[in-house]
Amino acid sequence: MTEAAAPPRTNFIRQIIDADLASGKHERIATRFPPEPNGYLHIGHAKSIVLNFGLALDYGGTCNLRFDDTNPLKEDVEFVDSIQADVRWLGFDWGDRRFFASDYFEQLYQFAVELIEKGLAYVCDLSAEDTRTYRGTLTDPGRDSPYRERSIAENLDLFARMRNGEFADGSRTLRARIDMRSPNINLRDPVLYRIKHGVIHHQTGSAWCLYPTYDYTHPLSDALEGITHSLCTLEFEDHRPLYDWCIDHVSVPSKPRQIEFSRLNLEYTVMSKRRLTELVSEQLVNGWNDPRMPTLAGLRRRGYTPAAIREFCERVGVTKSDNLVEMALLESAIRDDLDANAPRRMAVLRPLKVVLTNYPANNCETVTLANHPKDASLGSRELPFGAELWIDQNDFAEQPPKDFKRLIPNGEVRLRGAYVIRCDEVIKDAAGAVLELRASVDFATLGKNPEGRKVKGVIHWVAAATAIPAEIRLYDRLFQVPIPGAGGGDYRADLNPHSLQVLTDCVVEPALANVIAGAQFQFEREGYFVADFDTTPARPVFNLTVGLRDTWGKNRP
Ligand code: ATP
Ligand code: MG
Repeated sequence: MTEAAAPPRTNFIRQIIDADLASGKHERIATRFPPEPNGYLHIGHAKSIVLNFGLALDYGGTCNLRFDDTNPLKEDVEFVDSIQADVRWLGFDWGDRRFFASDYFEQLYQFAVELIEKGLAYVCDLSAEDTRTYRGTLTDPGRDSPYRERSIAENLDLFARMRNGEFADGSRTLRARIDMRSPNINLRDPVLYRIKHGVIHHQTGSAWCLYPTYDYTHPLSDALEGITHSLCTLEFEDHRPLYDWCIDHVSVPSKPRQIEFSRLNLEYTVMSKRRLTELVSEQLVNGWNDPRMPTLAGLRRRGYTPAAIREFCERVGVTKSDNLVEMALLESAIRDDLDANAPRRMAVLRPLKVVLTNYPANNCETVTLANHPKDASLGSRELPFGAELWIDQNDFAEQPPKDFKRLIPNGEVRLRGAYVIRCDEVIKDAAGAVLELRASVDFATLGKNPEGRKVKGVIHWVAAATAIPAEIRLYDRLFQVPIPGAGGGDYRADLNPHSLQVLTDCVVEPALANVIAGAQFQFEREGYFVADFDTTPARPVFNLTVGLRDTWGKNRP
């Protein structure tokens, strides 16, 4: 991270680290972020990244990026690349500390041989189904596999032949020899190796037909890398005894400690990689980087900044209790960032023409507007005014609701940064739809209040002669309920049908000509927007990042 971070908030993991450093157990800490390259990173991963890389930065330690690539069927280099891009984008750097669990396949194999030699692992010929039956349940103890008492010599021979490809998929596994009656099912002789023929691993190609399981690979990879604090999510708590068993029974160079924290769950979205993959493959969204997705690629395209995501992770904190975080917390983090940093612009989303009947037709007047109301360092801009303007359809009402402070027939409103106008006439088509307004300017009101009367409303506008046509994509929450699929229903049924609305007839002020993808603005009175990479020189495209206030549920169609 380049910018100076705020002082970190403490948490139980920091307290453990503080104690380990104070007692001399460790001189330096080493953490790792261990994604499986089987999907794009999401906001939940961001919590883990910010935690692991953040601790390493704060304590002057190191954080490794380690691809946990033991399941080649679902993995792909596309994901390796996107994960790296996303971690860098979030502001973190692993330097030369990028590893693959597959880098250790040979070493892990030798560790397995060591376990066999110690009588702590055996080749088992039970089918997957029988292995399950023998394992028992939470209430029933397991039963010993009939292959559990094989001799060390036979196990060594069979394991070598498994590696050599002599046996079919599923015909044999290597299992740890721990305790079939353990109350912890993870310790009932867990499988350490499976046979998988014919898969091309994205790193090791066809070198192996024997793949280690996650529970075996993870602790030993941590130990080989000298990880001191191995941070993972709570569902691995029951796996910790197996984690410790692995590092206690092979000759590893260090003894890492696993510490669990609660995973991030966010309202109105899904975070399981299976579901995210389905949303993409079933084209329920437009790819992994659809701005409605909780992926980092999606959030980036939506206009979320790395600083806002890091701040959100800090605000969420690190605890041991599972909870569901409100979407409003994520939205307020980006709103705070953009409120402080995004230049202001004017954009009319649903244009309604206003003709100023008393304004000279070819006048070339400009008005000056500050780019930010509170930050003069962002400067100002000259905005062309003119006899024909666009205002938003929502800023005019023939039959105004109570407290409507915008334009009404024979009413007045201020145009932001310019004059007060009065609506004199409403032009309609045969069906009664409003086509255009005729209005007059009070020339005494530029930068001044009108004489003898109050004009409360201020609306935004764009001069028609110099307006730039634009497309604006309004995004809303992907799901319409806080917990999609709660109660056992299909989560797809909870998709929000209004999550994307594309407005193709918008106009924006000329300062937005030649805008570059990724540029961010507050469109006055509308919200925060980011230029999408579909922007062309002729036609900018903007994505709604977040509204100005939390209005979810208040203005829904
Ligand atoms: P899978 O369902 O494929 O196992 P995963 O979400 O566990 O997915 P990994 O790639 O294994 O994905 O995760 C990498 C790291 O990110 C792990 O250490 C994991 O604990 C952490 N992580 C994943 N999801 C979350 C989450 N929602 N909150 C916090 N950490 C998470
Ligand atoms: Mg995982």
